[in-house]
Amino acid sequence: MDLQFLGTSSGVPTKSRNVSATAVIEASGSHWYLVDCGEGTQHQLLHSPLSMRDLRGIFITHVHGDHCFGLPGLLASAGMSGRTEPLDLILPAALQDWVRLSLAASESYLPFELRMLPVEQLQHWQSSHVEVSTVQLSHRVPSVGFVFTELNPEPRLDIARLEAEGIPRGPLWGDLAKGISVEHDGQTLDARVYLKASRPARRVIVCGDNDNPALLAQVAQGADVLVHEATFTQPIIDRSGNSFGHSTAAAVARFAEQAGVRNLVLTHFSARYQADPKRSPCIDDVREEAQAHYSGNLTLARDLQRYHIGRDGGLVAVSA
Ligand SMILES: [Zn+2]
Repeated sequence: MDLQFLGTSSGVPTKSRNVSATAVIEASGSHWYLVDCGEGTQHQLLHSPLSMRDLRGIFITHVHGDHCFGLPGLLASAGMSGRTEPLDLILPAALQDWVRLSLAASESYLPFELRMLPVEQLQHWQSSHVEVSTVQLSHRVPSVGFVFTELNPEPRLDIARLEAEGIPRGPLWGDLAKGISVEHDGQTLDARVYLKASRPARRVIVCGDNDNPALLAQVAQGADVLVHEATFTQPIIDRSGNSFGHSTAAAVARFAEQAGVRNLVLTHFSARYQADPKRSPCIDDVREEAQAHYSGNLTLARDLQRYHIGRDGGLVAVSA
């Protein structure tokens, strides 16, 4: 599974960071999932190899505008680009009427079925390659994280089983390997039964805004990657006396260290943190604060950067 960040700023965009949006990309191909859709997400997508036709689902973590104001434009453009496949949009129930009204009032016609599912009722969603569940977080409004788990990654033929059941080598095996069910001895053989994962399933958690990382204790166990906001550094909170429902780099890093998170990706940075190391406060302050509490593989997400989970389980930046 890969990640590509389309927006890593909190609240407002900056010249180098757009507002929240993260693409989760299947290992097996180009199919992908979008978590949050801040304004301008469709513009960011133009700078990525991701196509609206390959999008398999949109997941919105909470109602705040920096996480959803890009929806009407992105959906309308998906329609104009000729998408016809149904699209699932998992979002807070309170946003459903807003999406419907935005499209209706602007007379935007979608040539595909938009299936809106309230995130509050989402137990478990799945596509053919990925299963998604939610974890409740703590913010000024209800907020969730989405847990993406691969289903049967890189399936290979279960040769021992095929041989044990006396299924002859040849075209039958070939079809089963492609996931096509076949007829043999008057019986239908379900391809899924004869394919098994050739490596452990990856698990990636992409969180919405959250001021209490400890809520992730259970799902973080064994997760490959945790993507979490680090809106502020501790000195900023100490000065203002208010975290506005957000986390500091230190708090997230401390949690990740304790939970044994292998790869921690921080995002959703306050626009006050500048890229220029000579200015203050600077994004390096966020990195240094996190590094002081976390010894794992730390990444500060950058807009349009793609990251890949390598064979050894380490997250690395790759060219998109
Ligand atoms: Zn936010």
